[in-house]
Amino acid sequence: MTTDKKYQSWLNDISGNLPLIIAGPCSAETESQVLETAQGVKKAGAHIFRAGIWKPRTRPGNFEGVGAIGLKWLQKAKKQTGLLMAVEVANPHHVELALQHDIDIFWIGARTSVNPFAVQEIADALKGLDKIVWVKNPINPDLALWMGALERIEKAGIEKLGAIHRGFSSYKKMIYRNEPLWQIPIDLKTKFPNLPLINDPSHISGKRELVFDVAQTAIQLMFDGLMIETHINPEKAWSDAKQQITPDVLNDFLKKLVIPNQRVFSPALLESLQVLRKDIDNIDAEIVQLFKQRQDKTEQIAGLKFKENIAIYQKERWLDILQKAIRNSQQNNVNQKFIEQIFKLMHQESLKIQHRIFSEKEQAKK
Ligand code: PEP
Ligand code: MN
Repeated sequence: MTTDKKYQSWLNDISGNLPLIIAGPCSAETESQVLETAQGVKKAGAHIFRAGIWKPRTRPGNFEGVGAIGLKWLQKAKKQTGLLMAVEVANPHHVELALQHDIDIFWIGARTSVNPFAVQEIADALKGLDKIVWVKNPINPDLALWMGALERIEKAGIEKLGAIHRGFSSYKKMIYRNEPLWQIPIDLKTKFPNLPLINDPSHISGKRELVFDVAQTAIQLMFDGLMIETHINPEKAWSDAKQQITPDVLNDFLKKLVIPNQRVFSPALLESLQVLRKDIDNIDAEIVQLFKQRQDKTEQIAGLKFKENIAIYQKERWLDILQKAIRNSQQNNVNQKFIEQIFKLMHQESLKIQHRIFSEKEQAKK
């Protein structure tokens, strides 16, 4: 995939300089739920209406989507509100039905983007169409797999592309339903700077109380838009009831959202940024130099310990180092937890170096 600007033209056409807002229910449930939610999110300022028609559920027996009839409700919602309509497609049959019902945007879900066979089949069904297509990150944290899915769609001739970050599955106990691992979408943006990047705070959070903070973080990180699950009666939703918000709450969220002046960097600001960034680069270079000096001292200490047959790990010394570092962090107003982590890493590295020196000297004796 190239870094061509053509991938983002659709985004500017729809939302201009502001974050793109996609809102709507996890699932289309009834005609009135679809129409009322669409009117609500339109009023709140959304650009695009989303609704799941076919739902990939983790366990069988849960609500699996209303199917093709829901597409008729979306057509009606489009007529009433003028909003663009977006649905998840998981196979060529979904693509065909969505096309028949005038759907504007197709997205590939997280359980489909993991599977290159499935993605390729969808790409073949989309071949040459003038539609907007988004690819959600695969459920496992694999940047190459996400890129691969985007590339398959791009190779099918789709130019209006986008990526959606919805977090990653984890067996860890955590506050989120899906771990954000922000570095992965940031890496994607670095590789494809002109590919629009949308955040889905609803599937990351899993709980409506957390949705706003995740959305705000994404906007601070320069994401181009948000996909927020919205339902007229979230508690009674047939899927993802815990994470959906009402159109009124969406309205408050969008008013509260702080949007950085991302695309209007003045020359003066740019210059100040450049000066500060140069300073940071110099400091970083010094930090590495200091690590090198520390490493030299560690090697000398290892030599002495080996000669006198003293154990590498000296608990008292380590506690003393850590205590000094903590005191120092408090006096200098640097985050104590951060300093503790750095020192623990440094100590581990020091033990590793000493073990290396010991085994080198052991070898030399033989
Ligand atoms: C959804 O958007 O409702 C959905 C099923 O999301 P994901 O593919 O991210 O799990
Ligand atoms: Mn959902």
